[in-house]
Amino acid sequence: MAQNRVNVAGVDVSTDHYIAGQRIASKKHFLDRSPIDGAALADVSAGGAAEADMAVTAARRAFPAWAALGPEGRAPILRRFAEGILARSADLSAVETVDNGSLLSGNQHRVVPRAALNISYFAEHALTLRGHTIDSPEVVNHIHYDPAGVAVLITPWNGPMMLTTWKIGPALAAGNTIVVKPPEWAPLTCSLLADIAHEAGVPAGVLNVVQGIGEEAGAALVQHSDVDRISFTGSTDTAQIIGAAAAHSITPVSMELGGKSPFIVCADADLKAAAQTVAGQYINAGQVCLAGTRILVEEPVAEKFLGMIRDAVSHMTVGDPRDANTRVGPLIHPDHFARVEGFVERARSEGVEFLWGGARHNQGELYFQPTLIAGARRDQEIFQSEVFGPVLTWNTFRNDHEAIEVANATKYGLAATLFCGNEERAMRIASGVVAGTAWVNCFFVRELAAPFGGARRSGIGREGSKYGIEEYLEIKAVTLAGL
Ligand code: NAD
Repeated sequence: MAQNRVNVAGVDVSTDHYIAGQRIASKKHFLDRSPIDGAALADVSAGGAAEADMAVTAARRAFPAWAALGPEGRAPILRRFAEGILARSADLSAVETVDNGSLLSGNQHRVVPRAALNISYFAEHALTLRGHTIDSPEVVNHIHYDPAGVAVLITPWNGPMMLTTWKIGPALAAGNTIVVKPPEWAPLTCSLLADIAHEAGVPAGVLNVVQGIGEEAGAALVQHSDVDRISFTGSTDTAQIIGAAAAHSITPVSMELGGKSPFIVCADADLKAAAQTVAGQYINAGQVCLAGTRILVEEPVAEKFLGMIRDAVSHMTVGDPRDANTRVGPLIHPDHFARVEGFVERARSEGVEFLWGGARHNQGELYFQPTLIAGARRDQEIFQSEVFGPVLTWNTFRNDHEAIEVANATKYGLAATLFCGNEERAMRIASGVVAGTAWVNCFFVRELAAPFGGARRSGIGREGSKYGIEEYLEIKAVTLAGL
């Protein structure tokens, strides 16, 4: 089935779309480069309205048979898909790292196992979706969980393997057919996922991949009139465009968006653990949606705690993400580097204080120094806007009321991290912050059975858990009388 394939990090990867079980090329291409050293990796097909229509049509045709299989018929195929992901762990990890600059060790040990679980978990969960009945005086109501139909799944470059499988798993397990639009700055692992699905026996047309630029391939998919669900992970700005397109055909949309999450440290916290965790916010060069980028520390311990973070950060290696010692890799793209640098320079011109960092790292073109900024006021851009780079802000608080107020002082509400030594106080602060997820004395724990998502401008809907699969279901009441 291969038409155009390239060797990336020793792995054979198709640069074509995957539509109706076939590899299909476009005349137009885009060049994908590695952020590690700028090396050209692949000329990837750039789809538009024609490819989007082909893929949606293929998904629509495949839908009745896939839906009719039921959860029992789909589960063995999805289990094989998950096993195929695990079997190709080395390939997927190597390609993801070269393509988006994320840490190789993290991809091997955390991301690939989780990507497989994202598929197998929902295959099993779907077996439990039995519907139920509600008796009324003269009727019986049967509640059915029907697959919604054709779902378009759009994902960003900072974690394509994890974030795409997190959508593919519930969408397919629920009985939908899908069209995936991978990110143009890291499109390659999604192509490998299509190969793995093919080999696992996912029927032709059930999973389709349209490669391309967001404003072309992505826009064509979200504007298509025969789509039943859109699931989007990406920036809040793009979400507004997609929301407007979906409004035209009243297509339900779920959205996982940006964040500017608080990281609150109380005076009685385990400061050593908190400092290590703050340093961890620089991982993947801060290109992590849920990173706690606004450090808020209780005044009496602020100076001591700052020294502890400084010490933890000084031990972090910035460099090639394939090196096991590296903690901070490159930013994804020169455009993104310029964006991050723009935030930093505007903050500098407004007179903030740099506790460390604030400039390009000598490791290379796309590497930025871990940066901590003090003295930002609540109304300043650096306090309000998502930088999506290794840039944190530093503020102090005097009491719980102030901590909650400052934590909630942005338009976002994705996550909040809190280190605290007192359970009652921790629960009070966790209850007060506006966030889809609040971690207490831990960070980045993403239990698949627990919902994940954003409040306010950080999203609509939830992923993971029973709430995540409901995004892909049509819940129908069949009301029977006289039978
Ligand atoms: P982005 O919004 O620029 O792009 C995301 C995806 O949307 C890409 O595949 C892109 O091609 C596509 N796209 C762009 N324009 C489109 C359009 N007009 N129509 C349809 N699709 C379009 O975001 P990004 O820069 O790739 O990713 C970074 C952002 O993603 C950050 O804001 C980050 O916080 C967010 N993010 C959120 C989560 C979460 O779970 N909440 C996870 C990861 C990343």
